[in-house]
Amino acid sequence: MAKYRFICDKCNSEYCFNMSIEEYDKAKGSIFCEKDNNSLKRVYGNFALKVAKTSIEIAEDIKKEKNKILEKAKSGDMSTILDIYGE
Ligand SMILES: [Zn+2]
Repeated sequence: MAKYRFICDKCNSEYCFNMSIEEYDKAKGSIFCEKDNNSLKRVYGNFALKVAKTSIEIAEDIKKEKNKILEKAKSGDMSTILDIYGE
């Protein structure tokens, strides 16, 4: 048995499953967040979130951040937009 950590990039929920490599192979790509049915991303190691990020990952983060801002903009949260862009 090995521990596999997964994260939902929509709601940032973390999941931890104990399973064998065979089970992981079968489940891979079909593990979904309980809250929003988003497919979960594997997190490697316990400190994966703290290690230095590659430029690709940083670019991904920026994209996600933009999407979050867009979502907030759509829901009319103007104060957030002003916080980020200034007036
Ligand atoms: Zn989620």
